[in-house]
Amino acid sequence: MKFVRWMAAGILVVALAGCSSEQSNPQDPANDDAAAAQASKQAAEEEARVAETKAEINRLADGYDYSAAIKLAAKDSSEELTKMVPGLEDEKAQTVAWETPNQIPHLFFHSLVIDTDRAFDGDNAAQGYKDYMVTQKEFTAIIKELYARDFVLVNPEDFAAEDKKGNMAYRKIMLPEGKQPLVLSVDDVSYYEYMDGDGFASKLLVDKNGKVRNEYTDAKGKTHVGAYDVTTMIDDFVDEHPDFSYRDARGLVAMTGYNGEFGYRTSASQYPENKNLEKDQKAATEVANAMKEEGWVFASHSWGHIATGTVDMARFKRDMKLWKAEVEPIVGKTEHLIYPFGSDIAHTAKYSGSRYEYLKDQGFKYFYGVDGTIRAWMQQTDNYQRQMRINIDGLQFEKEQRGDRPVLAEFFDVDKVIDPAR
Ligand SMILES: [Zn+2]
Repeated sequence: MKFVRWMAAGILVVALAGCSSEQSNPQDPANDDAAAAQASKQAAEEEARVAETKAEINRLADGYDYSAAIKLAAKDSSEELTKMVPGLEDEKAQTVAWETPNQIPHLFFHSLVIDTDRAFDGDNAAQGYKDYMVTQKEFTAIIKELYARDFVLVNPEDFAAEDKKGNMAYRKIMLPEGKQPLVLSVDDVSYYEYMDGDGFASKLLVDKNGKVRNEYTDAKGKTHVGAYDVTTMIDDFVDEHPDFSYRDARGLVAMTGYNGEFGYRTSASQYPENKNLEKDQKAATEVANAMKEEGWVFASHSWGHIATGTVDMARFKRDMKLWKAEVEPIVGKTEHLIYPFGSDIAHTAKYSGSRYEYLKDQGFKYFYGVDGTIRAWMQQTDNYQRQMRINIDGLQFEKEQRGDRPVLAEFFDVDKVIDPAR
């Protein structure tokens, strides 16, 4: 079906190119030239407009937003575009509502190890990288496999949002039969100081084309700009495979504040000596805005990566104030809280009590813990949506290989994706 849509675009260009040179009036060559030039200019403009609208219609349809695609095509003045409507209607009719909205899995990652030699060099950070991170090679294999197995990235608001009465409720996710929704998140995209020189990207930046890219310095000291971490690699993958994303969804990004954001030391309380503080804050805000535009959703991960479930309330409140003062101005307000260390405020019981009431007052409505032993776990009340995440890292790979409550087989084969450099 996609092929048919793009074929129509090709035919259209040929047809428009054909009609621009058909006019002639031998009686007045000068007027004729001007009129022909004008007509040809108008035809070219129309051709460009139609091509642009068609690309947008296709982008919407590739991301399964058939209603928006149909709306755009149906109201267009170009017959070539209105002709797309039946095909789009047909594709829309083939989608089905995901039958178990409370059974959507959620996988999470940390920053990717780019240079395994420097990360796994035996120093005192090496074991932590092996335990809590995956390598770029592993991540490349994982996303390929997730796509091959028909997973589609969705954002939590796609399946749970407040209804007209203001109560949290499940929403229908409409996908072609066989496709299955998946949430992805990435934690701690701060490029913490301790990671410096250990073979990770060093920051995110917005390039001159408005694209978010990583900066990465290799072992020889040469700096590269490209996709060297989860978010940029996902952006590139979705560019190539738009059907990997439901309505522009990417995933959640959990941010702390104590080392700043995205590699910029933006924390005024931690870096009072940073002479580029304002400049760094501006650069980090540009990164956040561009990422939001792409479809990423920011979450609080606390300012100081504190154990949110157990820390005393006075410290919790101090930490929250710092997050709102230093991180929120950069990434924006959020209703999502990704617990650091998976330190949830309750076990499986529904939330209640002062800790929850405090978080509710602070505007949080979506909460995420960690459970690497269950494929999907959610809890919904009128007031909040809660979901467990599976950690994708060295510890989980080892657990899977031991056969200890394995959950990853439906997503990818651990033995096939594991990096021999581990
Ligand atoms: Zn974390």
